[in-house]
Amino acid sequence: MTSIAKDIDRITADIRQFEAEYERPQNSVTLLAVSKKHSAQSIEIAAQHGIHNFGENYLQEALGKIQALEKYPLIWHFIGPIQSNKTKAIAENFDWVHSVDREKIARRLSEQRTKDRGALNVCVQVNLSDEQSKSGATLKNTADICALVAQLPGLTLRGLMAIPAPQSYYQDQRASFNELNLEFKALAERYPTMDTLSMGMSNDFEAAIAEGSTMIRIGTALFGSRPV
Ligand SMILES: *Cc1c(COP(=O)(O)O)cnc(C)c1O
Repeated sequence: MTSIAKDIDRITADIRQFEAEYERPQNSVTLLAVSKKHSAQSIEIAAQHGIHNFGENYLQEALGKIQALEKYPLIWHFIGPIQSNKTKAIAENFDWVHSVDREKIARRLSEQRTKDRGALNVCVQVNLSDEQSKSGATLKNTADICALVAQLPGLTLRGLMAIPAPQSYYQDQRASFNELNLEFKALAERYPTMDTLSMGMSNDFEAAIAEGSTMIRIGTALFGSRPV
């Protein structure tokens, strides 16, 4: 077996184990394979080993791979920062967007969504640790952006996403994810289409599953370190 196939088996086993350990329903956590900077060939190996969901950050790079892998029934997630001149191609080529963090981007994605593909699935990206990164809505703005996404015809509000500042200690990782989970639960009561909490990466996905993640975004642990 290739190392990608072995990594998929190992991470999938970890996910099932953490679901049991933290009393989460079995199969409630989806593995989103983050394939940025990795080849279409690597994605193909993962697809043949049962992975359907792939995350990409860079539009041009992603479009080539989406086209090259057209014969597979894959679900493509845009997870990188979004410039407004990129919204059309994102709306036309992706199934999900996890990085909506301002109203202008939400409106453009809705207007530009290809009608025959149904609504685009959207997670609103939340910035939990304000100074660390420029991406993501503040907790204060998150509710307003969710309200807008919920009413735009080209979008379906699916949930929240966050990339907390990297933390070495498990308890600190859990504290950030808990903060997002509380916000998610409050909003999901208002918006019944919200079923997705996109949090957890290669180094912190156990803590994310413990705190209610439903979709972990794994790159390095699955495809190896990224070429620079
Ligand atoms: C690159 C990236 C990941 C994957 O990170 P790893 O540490 O390689 O697992 C997850 N989410 C986002 C938004 C990313 O940009």
